[in-house]
Amino acid sequence: MTSISRLAVVTGANRGIGLETCRQLAELGIKVVLTSRSIDEGQAAADALSSQGLDVRFHPLDVKDDASVLRLADFLRAEYGRLDILVNNAGVFLDASGPTGSGASVFNTEIALIRDTLETNTFGPMRVTKALVPLMQGRGNVVNLSSGMGQLSEMEGQYPAYRVSKTALNALTRIFADELAKTRIKVNALCPGWVRTDMGGPDATRSLAQGAETAVWLATLDEDGPSGGFFRDKEPIPW
Ligand code: NAP
Repeated sequence: MTSISRLAVVTGANRGIGLETCRQLAELGIKVVLTSRSIDEGQAAADALSSQGLDVRFHPLDVKDDASVLRLADFLRAEYGRLDILVNNAGVFLDASGPTGSGASVFNTEIALIRDTLETNTFGPMRVTKALVPLMQGRGNVVNLSSGMGQLSEMEGQYPAYRVSKTALNALTRIFADELAKTRIKVNALCPGWVRTDMGGPDATRSLAQGAETAVWLATLDEDGPSGGFFRDKEPIPW
């Protein structure tokens, strides 16, 4: 079994905030298992970080697929026997935009689209967290990439699938944190802000480096850090 100081898993890490989170965690000396559903893209992303001297390794993971999640858990158990950090980053934005934004109205949204979005954005993190928390052996950090669009306190119309999926992810964050309160496993959610990725688009206000910053902070909290919180720019924000 391989001996390392700290071990992190990041989901949906072949591009965007997930890939940048892998980079920043590895730059802190943390061993990173970069996961993605595309083997070619994930392996290429991990190779690119490794070629810069970072300790990054690829493993396939589709967060919608129970068997894929269990294969990752088996790999981690056999290879390392533990896990310290889980960043639930993988996400989709499936709501239609339409020329005037009207396509994203709840009145134009099929329930199947909401169900499909929940499968990745909400049940994905739940599936992966349930499978990997036992490897944390009572100590570790779980980080959920949520969104301000899931905040009930600022809830507006449009984009119901994405909004509902992230509100539900926030609820799961509280549920996991409460059930793990007697351990030293912390579970927190964050909004990365509006970040220039394929999802955020080129007009977004934040760089990738800024977008990953709070996720990395939560991933590396020490034992005195918060659990069951929702953060942006390393500060608590309303649910
Ligand atoms: P992105 O560039 O679209 O990347 C999304 C990642 O999720 C991709 O690697 C994608 O893989 C992966 N993914 C999707 N479905 C998956 C599945 N079933 N299994 C495994 N991986 C899957 O998005 P991003 O902007 O980096 O977003 C990362 C996270 O931040 C998301 O949870 C998003 O909701 C959240 N967020 C982003 C913003 C923003 O402004 N960008 C704002 C608030 C919150 P493929 O390449 O295979 O599709």
